[in-house]
Amino acid sequence: MKQVVVIGGGVIGISCALAAQAEGHRVTVLEPGPVGEGASWASCGCIAVGEIVPLSQPGMLMKVPGWLLNPEAPLSLRPTALPGLLPWFARFTANARPSRMRAIAQDLAALTFSATADSKAQIADIGSPELLVERPVIKLFDGESDQATMGAAFDLARELGCTIDEISGREAHEMDAAIAPDFKYAALLRDWSFVTDPRRLVQDLHRAFVARGGQVQPAAAVGFERDGSRVTGVHPARGEVAHADEVVIAAGTHSKVLANMLGIPLHMEGVMGYSTSLCDAGVDLQHTVFYPKGGFGITPFDQELVVAGTVEFAGLNAAPKWNRADVLVKRARRVLPGLRTDMAERRMGRRPFTPDTRPIIGRTAKLSNVILATGHGQLGLTLGATTGRLVADIIADRKPRLDISAYSPDR
Ligand SMILES: Cc1cc2nc3c(=O)[nH]c(=O)nc-3n(C[C@H](O)[C@H](O)[C@H](O)COP(=O)(O)OP(=O)(O)OC[C@H]3O[C@@H](n4cnc5c(N)ncnc54)[C@H](O)[C@@H]3O)c2cc1C
Repeated sequence: MKQVVVIGGGVIGISCALAAQAEGHRVTVLEPGPVGEGASWASCGCIAVGEIVPLSQPGMLMKVPGWLLNPEAPLSLRPTALPGLLPWFARFTANARPSRMRAIAQDLAALTFSATADSKAQIADIGSPELLVERPVIKLFDGESDQATMGAAFDLARELGCTIDEISGREAHEMDAAIAPDFKYAALLRDWSFVTDPRRLVQDLHRAFVARGGQVQPAAAVGFERDGSRVTGVHPARGEVAHADEVVIAAGTHSKVLANMLGIPLHMEGVMGYSTSLCDAGVDLQHTVFYPKGGFGITPFDQELVVAGTVEFAGLNAAPKWNRADVLVKRARRVLPGLRTDMAERRMGRRPFTPDTRPIIGRTAKLSNVILATGHGQLGLTLGATTGRLVADIIADRKPRLDISAYSPDR
């Protein structure tokens, strides 16, 4: 039995903690809280099995001037952040070659194709199976050019095993009457599902972890104790040092700062996204719908309808620009004409993004007992349970059930 310290109690950290605890280890999670309000709280809630085509795409560099000029575009870049982001962007654009994109998509598929089974097993284990709804996600397109931009990504995803059916906009409306009837095309993503309340998911995972004897120290990790190539303890902002046989760094975008303290360079940025929760939306939406042209998705959570999306490159610690959330809500009426928007609460989340869109899961050669579990980008909610299982394999020094070399922190 080992003493495991997990830094960060978001969906990734708490999933790692539970999986390690299930193998008999003594586990402490450092999480300054509030529990459940990490990036996943601002998410669309999807178990996005087919979201495997990387964000970097051919011609990306040419698009940067446009992102700089239009701060309300679905994809934007804050001019003040550009100098700091340049090294990340250089790596990002190097991943936009078709051969790289295919290799990355394969590596992501290797993870996401286990996600539904792993998530179902995880929520069944904590007694909250109702948190997952297995219902296809619908993508909506205004016209041919709009749909064509997704065509190549759909082809690649299909080739790798995803099930995507193309239907007419009218058929989408017939499946879900809340959707406007005049979209030209739609796609049904049959492998996807959604979590009905991402905040509750993280809170329920915490509750189960604590009920089984796990410890949550309500403080941020601020430093480390070392003995040669081992980390022997983690300093919290307040309270006792947490002694460790194994340390898992799973603090979302903040993992970069913590890894840097240990001399591990992580090529990761926080890509901001926004969501607005509408608790009296006035429409009865049954499916998660995505409108790629508008850069957002809408998900019918348990107690609220959430409009979430946009990709904003702004650096790791930039303050939110809430008008970006407001723009999404205005555009959401194109999808749901009956939408009422008066009871709104806005959220912002930073997706921890690597330049190659692959997460960072594994040990680093620099330190013998430090495991990284971060960089999940737009797939953190999808891959929480899967990452937890892999990290449990790593802690046990077992051969992981899939080849994890592509996710190495040292790549
Ligand atoms: C708009 C939007 C839509 C999204 N939609 C989806 C989707 O549909 N499907 C999907 O799979 N993903 C989606 N995502 C991405 C997903 O939310 C993230 O990938 C995921 O939340 C990352 O999980 P995490 O645990 O790594 O980070 P977080 O959820 O951010 O959790 C990190 C935790 O670490 C803690 N922490 C920070 N610093 C320290 C420290 N020093 N010490 C201790 N703890 C610390 C924080 O308090 C936090 O609780 C979306 C994200 C956004 C913004």
